[in-house]
Amino acid sequence: MIMPLGLFFGAITSVNQALGALGRIQEILDLPDESANDRDLAPLALMVGEANAGVMPDAPAIALDEVHFAYASTRSDPADPDNDSPDEHLPEPDVTDRQPVLRGVSFEVPRGQRVALVGPSGAGKSTILALIERFYDPSVGTVRMGGLDLRSLDRAELRAQIGYVEQDAPVLAGTLRENLLLGSPEATDEECEHVLRSVNLGAVLDRDPAGLSAAVGDDGIMLSGGERQRLAIARALLAAPPILLLDESTSSLDGVNERMMREAIDQVSAGRTLIVIAHRLSTVIDSDRIVVLDDGRVIGEGTHAELVASVPLYRELAEHQLLV
Ligand code: ATP
Repeated sequence: MIMPLGLFFGAITSVNQALGALGRIQEILDLPDESANDRDLAPLALMVGEANAGVMPDAPAIALDEVHFAYASTRSDPADPDNDSPDEHLPEPDVTDRQPVLRGVSFEVPRGQRVALVGPSGAGKSTILALIERFYDPSVGTVRMGGLDLRSLDRAELRAQIGYVEQDAPVLAGTLRENLLLGSPEATDEECEHVLRSVNLGAVLDRDPAGLSAAVGDDGIMLSGGERQRLAIARALLAAPPILLLDESTSSLDGVNERMMREAIDQVSAGRTLIVIAHRLSTVIDSDRIVVLDDGRVIGEGTHAELVASVPLYRELAEHQLLV
């Protein structure tokens, strides 16, 4: 399937824009962390790393417990760069006059498992990922990582455990290597090549004799929607986070890209905890657990087969996507 050209070109941002965004992220990370208090910092990486399963107490990698949440302000205007730093707008405890977005959400993601979040648009899936990254705090309830309340953790330490692949992730106008090294400047060419092949982008690497030095984007290799998201996954994987959050692209993928995406998700979930917002059930049908959300509530949880049998909304989604 051919993507609209506007969508494709719109996704290719300049290096400057990306560096600006990185600068803003760094500013957020540099904010003094009022909430770490005097906690004797637990080795968080040990608590959530799959390699340490069996060594550390068996707390889930991520757990939400009766989480309620309402945004403090109306949705920020994405065109206004001064209005998108949610960290500076943690919600006040009094949320009675605000529209609730999450209403008592509880679920656990055991270490090393793959959990999918599915549900209609606006159900609250992206908001859950934002809470896990602690861009916001719950109004009521608790989010835990490795058994520890996120509010007790140092923000930088917390985010070092998490890789986040956004929807329709941008590709920088630059080389494949530059795109990969953005979050891990120390990575070697060998590591870059390995990670590209692990997410099924070996063919892209082989498409141009320049290999990692090949330009991507306008003046170089054109990447499909699926390839762009897999490149973003590869970038996140180079940092080897124990927990990966993936907001699957809503762009339509052709059959080949969809299969590649499924295989890439299989690959990356080995040895790490993966939480995927799934817009196509086919990419998550094999997840250990699927959490179905509707209007800020969990309305079902289980395997694909269990949910088809017991949750009408899920069965409808599955039928709509020709999976039953
Ligand atoms: P989609 O599948 O369309 O991405 P979603 O299930 O991820 O939807 P969210 O993006 O979490 O849903 O949105 C849940 C609700 O919160 C929606 O009503 C949305 O308009 C609102 N919302 C999301 N982000 C903000 C924000 N920054 N400020 C105010 N309201 C927001």
